[in-house]
Amino acid sequence: MPAPDQLLLIDGAFTPALSGATFTTRSPLDDSVLAEVARAGVQDVDRAAVAARKAFDDGQWSGMMPTERGALLRRIAEKIRWQAAAIAEIETRNGGKTIVNANNEVEAAAKVFDYYAGAADKFFGSTIPMGADILDFTLREPLGVVAAITPWNFPFLAAAWKLAPALAAGCTVILKPATHTPLTSLMLGRAALEAGLPPGVLNILPGPGAELGEHIARHPLIDKISFTGETTTGAKLMKAGADSMKRITLELGGKSANIVFADADLSKAANTAVSAGFGNAGQSCSARTRLFVEASAYEAFVTEFAKATSRFRVGDPLDPLTEMGPLISAGQWRTVRAYVELGQREGGTIVCGGDRPTMQVKGHYFAPTIIGGVTNASRIAQEEIFGPVVVVIPFMDEDDVIRMANDNQYGLNGSVWTRDIGRALRVAKRVKTGMISINSHGSASRYGYLAPFGGVKKSGIGRELGMHGLELYTELKNVFVDLSR
Ligand code: NDP
Repeated sequence: MPAPDQLLLIDGAFTPALSGATFTTRSPLDDSVLAEVARAGVQDVDRAAVAARKAFDDGQWSGMMPTERGALLRRIAEKIRWQAAAIAEIETRNGGKTIVNANNEVEAAAKVFDYYAGAADKFFGSTIPMGADILDFTLREPLGVVAAITPWNFPFLAAAWKLAPALAAGCTVILKPATHTPLTSLMLGRAALEAGLPPGVLNILPGPGAELGEHIARHPLIDKISFTGETTTGAKLMKAGADSMKRITLELGGKSANIVFADADLSKAANTAVSAGFGNAGQSCSARTRLFVEASAYEAFVTEFAKATSRFRVGDPLDPLTEMGPLISAGQWRTVRAYVELGQREGGTIVCGGDRPTMQVKGHYFAPTIIGGVTNASRIAQEEIFGPVVVVIPFMDEDDVIRMANDNQYGLNGSVWTRDIGRALRVAKRVKTGMISINSHGSASRYGYLAPFGGVKKSGIGRELGMHGLELYTELKNVFVDLSR
């Protein structure tokens, strides 16, 4: 396995931070040191912004034939696949996700590059009929320099979701990965250089978001921020970016509803609710963490859900049989535990889990946890925990569950389970969310990159993926021509 790069990537070269500072990257599996990574400061942001601006303004990349840009993106996908096993292993060691998930996410990232490679030369403006003497048409122009800021829960995939459409559109990029998980983003940078990406088109700056964020958001050479992370961080970026009128896409938190009617395939719903709630150790924005079950089916459903949860294999994420690894950090573990205690104070009862799993393992493991007996108004049902905790709540009828599902600050994802197609579609239309699945927990998995991904309310602004994702890396210019003699 090749050692990942540990330096900043600026203007086509791996380089130390100007200050010479570094930070230690650890593994949540056993707290071991993985790497000493260069720590970008604001002067490094300036260097990267100058490089990205120059690479954009010289027109070599933004003015390239889109077909050629697409070919280059396809080569990046090839380079990713060529070292997929190494990237996945580092993703698992650095972030704690299972090796099965890491392998799937690396392949999904390659698919995202393939998709936008194909889209690069199929995205253009239109003509608008205005009568015989006028020609009016629109141009889709690349937006400029994009700052992509990514979280630690899907480090490689989140980077691909931003980089691939931005590059396909002709933008240049500064990527700031999460401090917990910088390594696979740097591997992506290496793959892009090997594929032939010109200097300055992609720059990568591991470093502390709290120090660099405001500088990035106010930077005069940066045109857009594409951010994935917590809602409060997104709000800070929006405020800081307001004066320079930054374009902004925000993929933020969630507390998605999983709605199960009594007429559904209850066994399928109960069994898949496990990965929907506890996949990636619950550290997923799309996690279905509020599980609403029709009262007449509640007891039987919760019993089956708890049984299926007890079969969910928690352990060493490098073992291909493991279904859930540790949480990212000791701090995240304490946050999750504190929420469980809060849930108990709010009158909740623990159906299963609630603490460290019984087996003796190093690392920040937390057992998949189901909590019942609280109302939708409780904090544990309202706030994003970002750990393996699902709250189960009974409901009386369709109106009752719609009211509760919508009574939340977030609106990212969700599921509805019923055999009544009319009801399924009514609920899908009435739940205020960016995405919803019917009789499924699918969202961005498998073929999800073909469809728009994003949230409403405090879950974000804008969409990633699909052709909608490309749109947000362009500006639309209108050209009006008077043809009259
Ligand atoms: P954070 O908001 O803490 O961090 C996300 C990124 O922002 C990191 O790179 C972080 O850097 C950086 N950052 C931190 N503070 C600032 C700041 N003041 N200005 C600019 N950047 C900053 O989120 P988490 O990493 O904890 O990620 C988990 C969150 O992400 C959850 O809320 C989850 O729901 C959400 N998420 C949303 C998704 C979606 O598509 N809607 C998908 C995945 C996650 P550093 O690491 O150095 O602190």
